[in-house]
Amino acid sequence: MFFFLILVILLGVFFWMLIKEYQLEKKQFKSSKKELIEKVEKLEKGEGELKKKIKDFDKKTSQLFAFYDTARLVSSLVDKKELESAFIDKLSSLEGIDKISLSKLEGPNCHRFKINQDNNYLYLDTQSPNIFGLFPLFAKLFTVSLERLELYNRLQELSIRDYLTGVYNRRFFNQRVEEEFLRSKKLKNKLSFLMIDIDDFKKINDTYGHLVGDAVLERCSALISEGVRQIDFVGRLGGEEFGVLLTDTDKAGAIMVSERICSRISQEKIKVFDESLNMTVSIGVATYPSNTIYMDLFTEIADKALYRAKAAGKDRVSWF
Ligand code: GH3
Ligand code: MG
Ligand code: MG
Repeated sequence: MFFFLILVILLGVFFWMLIKEYQLEKKQFKSSKKELIEKVEKLEKGEGELKKKIKDFDKKTSQLFAFYDTARLVSSLVDKKELESAFIDKLSSLEGIDKISLSKLEGPNCHRFKINQDNNYLYLDTQSPNIFGLFPLFAKLFTVSLERLELYNRLQELSIRDYLTGVYNRRFFNQRVEEEFLRSKKLKNKLSFLMIDIDDFKKINDTYGHLVGDAVLERCSALISEGVRQIDFVGRLGGEEFGVLLTDTDKAGAIMVSERICSRISQEKIKVFDESLNMTVSIGVATYPSNTIYMDLFTEIADKALYRAKAAGKDRVSWF
């Protein structure tokens, strides 16, 4: 009888603990859900930090910041397979998105989305506090962020300028290359093309974050623009890659300009927040007609020369 009583008490304690644990879980779940709902509401009303950023929409990059914010908010709260595939599906259907890849980061439940949009990369990292059952809310958040991204894409299409650096965007720049090439052919002028790539740029992002990376891109593009004439064209071809079209310029002239840009950038200490950064660039040069008389090969030759400059140790100019 006595043992039976003990057994009943023990069982009682056990179940009591289980119920407590369950209640605690439920409470935590409720509070995180409440927190998330509040965040969604804030987001929809456009309050707080995000509102400020959306308001600053005119400022070129705010669109992306808002996107990062939303995505970061979402990604810190979720790690679900459905979310990953929904996210990839939705993003893949957007115009201008070339490629989305998903790679595992260190840690058991972290993922990195790498989104290649017109050669600009966005990274989104997910961490996993394992909160279940909130998928509809995440979907809502995504819709908000994706609408912004779509808007941003449309904006880019309407614009001839790169949103971050203010130099010509790739589409507009490529049109100029074609036109100038045909014009030079007709007028029997020389034409040079520089392909410029910032060296070890990934390290900057990895060490200091994307905001610092963006500021470095802005400064480098300004230094490139300052190094050429008003009549030349500067464009952002992709991430940390720029193109310069030097009208009526032969190879010797193009090499001179390239060397000047190269040493200007390597001599400057680029100040971003508290950091003072030393950057270098590699440059590949191609000239019409001495390298080629075919437009298709023109940029390809500059690309090959750039590759040679990288292989030879970076921070230099290369040509054929
Ligand atoms: P290399 O010297 O061989 O050129 O090395 P790298 O690190 O410069 O080149 P890599 O192609 O490995 O990395 C380029 C990086 O540029 C990767 C990507 O995260 C970053 N990037 C591309 N677009 C942007 C952008 O718009 N903003 C920022 N902050 N980073 C970008
Ligand atoms: Mg590079
Ligand atoms: Mg590159």
